[in-house]
Amino acid sequence: MKAVLDHVGIAVDDLEASLRFFRDSLGLHVEPPEDVPSQGVRAQFISTGPSSLELLQATAPESPIAKFLAKRGPGLHHITLRVDDIRAALSQLRECGVRLVDDEPRPGAEGAMVAFIHPSSAQGVLVELKQAALARPAPELPKTIRLGDIDIVTVSDGFFYLDGGAMFGVVPKTFWEKKAPPDERNRIRMAMRCVLLRGARTMLIDAGSGDKMTPKQAEIYRFEREFNLQHSLPAAGMSPEGIDVVLATHLHFDHAGGFTERAPDGSIRPRFPRAQYIVRRGEFEDAMSPNERTKGSYFFENYQPLADHNVLQLVDDDSSIMPGVRVRRTGGHTMHHQMVVIESAGKTAVFAADLLPTAAHLPEVWVMGYDLFPLDTLNFKRAFLREVIEREYLIIFEHDPDIAAGYIRESGGKRYVEKVA
Ligand SMILES: [Zn+2]
Ligand SMILES: [Zn+2]
Repeated sequence: MKAVLDHVGIAVDDLEASLRFFRDSLGLHVEPPEDVPSQGVRAQFISTGPSSLELLQATAPESPIAKFLAKRGPGLHHITLRVDDIRAALSQLRECGVRLVDDEPRPGAEGAMVAFIHPSSAQGVLVELKQAALARPAPELPKTIRLGDIDIVTVSDGFFYLDGGAMFGVVPKTFWEKKAPPDERNRIRMAMRCVLLRGARTMLIDAGSGDKMTPKQAEIYRFEREFNLQHSLPAAGMSPEGIDVVLATHLHFDHAGGFTERAPDGSIRPRFPRAQYIVRRGEFEDAMSPNERTKGSYFFENYQPLADHNVLQLVDDDSSIMPGVRVRRTGGHTMHHQMVVIESAGKTAVFAADLLPTAAHLPEVWVMGYDLFPLDTLNFKRAFLREVIEREYLIIFEHDPDIAAGYIRESGGKRYVEKVA
């Protein structure tokens, strides 16, 4: 089994008094205390990197911690190993003849399931097994930003995970991990946030990954799509039939996967029955003939059916797509990657797609390893950021897990994103 040190438990007589050492002298960050009535204990977690400390104070005279303190006084009480499947772990240990305190898992702190192994089987150490509560990500509900005569609505196709190193190119992990904490497989959480525009026509920009991926892809990319475009469009008062135009920033699967869907007979068809799909010609041509480097992101089923059904419209240059909406090539990420500029009543918003995937990509050299032409990204970004700050463009982030949109500000030589509520 795979087991990771989750925390070290320390029995204390008096939580508040013990914080004089851990919080005040060591200067560690202390979480608020939590009562676990089933074990007659009040627990307080202290952050110390990937593993933490747990201070334990008895809240009932008969609790195991009270007995421990009476017998041995304050000190190290247990270590906790985190496992993926606690029942499987317990049965494996039973088969090996390990003496268990708990045959069945019971509820622990923070919604976890826990079970103890007897110290006589573990070199005198009380070992707790823990299966963490499944994090149920909160759905990202549509947000509407009014820009002059155009309503910009951000609509979520859920989240997925990409390798953190690849997302930040040459930037060392010691820098990026603070802004984008990776999971145990070094992946960081990314939104698939699309934009619905209600102006002269109803337009959807990008459509997330959709749900045609294989179980293997789903495993690699750890999709969290319990709440996806199928839910967020109705939540924004929109149906697939209501979309007039679907506009692509580029054709990578996390942007164009949702352009098509599998019909009941197994064939792949356009997902939005009334829509014209607009794609930049160079991007379409590149996606139709991927090379070894690009074929992991381009899947024919996401765009070929658009051509087959005659709903594909190719544009050659930076041009207006509808009143107030135009595309502008950035290059860099792919040769023909484009962003979408939305202008109304003297205000400008930009859906920057993979030019500025998250707010963490604000520094100019924080360029993705995925980019085919990173120096082009760097040059475009340098000039564009200056323009964004001077002219106060609103930036919509497609992949930031938390920030849907914000203004980029500069003060005292430092740049930051001022989030839009
Ligand atoms: Zn991309
Ligand atoms: Zn992307």
